[in-house]
Amino acid sequence: MKVLVINAGSSSLKYQLINMEDESVLAKGNAERIGINNSCLKHTATGIDSIELQAELRDHKDAIKLVIESLVHPEYGVIRDMSEIKAVGHRVVHGGEAFSQSVLIDNQVMQAIQKNIELAPLHNPANIMGIEACRSIMPDTPMTAVFDTAFHQTMPKKAFLYAVPYQAYEKHGVRRYGFHGTSHKYVALRAAQLLNKPIESLKIITCHLGNGSSITAVLNGKSVDTSMGFTPLEGLPMGTRSGNIDPAIISYMMEKEHLTSGEVNETLNKRSGVLGLSGISSDFRDLAKASEDGVERARIALDVFTYQVEKFIGSYAVAMGGVDCIVFTAGIGENTPAIRKASCSNLKFLGFKIDDEKNESIPTAKKEGIITTDDSSGVVMVIPTNEELMIARDTMEIIGLTNP
Ligand code: AMP
Repeated sequence: MKVLVINAGSSSLKYQLINMEDESVLAKGNAERIGINNSCLKHTATGIDSIELQAELRDHKDAIKLVIESLVHPEYGVIRDMSEIKAVGHRVVHGGEAFSQSVLIDNQVMQAIQKNIELAPLHNPANIMGIEACRSIMPDTPMTAVFDTAFHQTMPKKAFLYAVPYQAYEKHGVRRYGFHGTSHKYVALRAAQLLNKPIESLKIITCHLGNGSSITAVLNGKSVDTSMGFTPLEGLPMGTRSGNIDPAIISYMMEKEHLTSGEVNETLNKRSGVLGLSGISSDFRDLAKASEDGVERARIALDVFTYQVEKFIGSYAVAMGGVDCIVFTAGIGENTPAIRKASCSNLKFLGFKIDDEKNESIPTAKKEGIITTDDSSGVVMVIPTNEELMIARDTMEIIGLTNP
């Protein structure tokens, strides 16, 4: 049984075809520069060299057509025809309060996703384009929407409400939604599996540290708090995003620098975070190198980042009345032993002792393992995230494809 997973951006469309019998990836790729000149499709099929196809992709429909053509191609394809794709799972960024889990897509669901455009103006329109393109080309194939926000819908009011006039929530939906939910859910489930304990008995803190970063408190399998908020700008400092700041800074900067709200927004989203602090790069590899070379602001940017990671871990340990397991995932979490070590440097009093050798032995992507000492009462793990697999599993469950 094969499930196609689609992650549509405004000018890109990433895909994976997953064989659910053994959860292996049969093919994956990315259609790039959709609607722009020089568009192309990068396609990799198992056991075949990657290829790059130049083609005019006017819109997402053109992109999906080329994806399907590549999947069934006699040389670099992996299936005989489109009918082998039994379902399509779509990543959708914002489900608002309407969706607390993944759903089968119908017209009503499309309207609800449409309604949430005001909460995610950059993402939901692109996700909708991807879904509509697929529905027009594969009208008889069942499709699901898997939301970045859904996993966090279990947060209690005390965690998701901001202390602003209540009407802001009632009238405009101003509240914490949280993001990266599919990733937090996947690694929390996997951590429970690796610990060989039911997730319903565990207190887990999941640290998704990538270009965008967020931390979630997962109590008995449910998200009870998360660091991103109304938008993905809140929480930790990130590559280019500020994370938490005093809200008064916004009007102060607007007055001092004669900025519009749009310009401040741009500064906080695109020119802040570790890029803004270091003045060098948003990429942690560049910062690590610069820090080693003695560049003071690169070191400070990394210190600010790891200090905030540790503060969130501490506050979520208190929020849950303890913590059994901390998980690191995503680009930085999976690849950077130094960041993991610094982020856990003060956690000994909570029972977490990092084993330097084990930590250093997981320096490359796609390797999972425990990085705490044998006598550490709490476990710290590295688990490569796999949002596509989570989407495919949810899709299988919804469509009831229980017999592969
Ligand atoms: P993601 O958003 O999960 O793809 O993560 C992207 C970020 O992970 C990049 O900006 C890098 O800072 C970081 N990253 C990726 N690979 C490595 C690596 N091998 N070493 C250090 N940092 C990495």
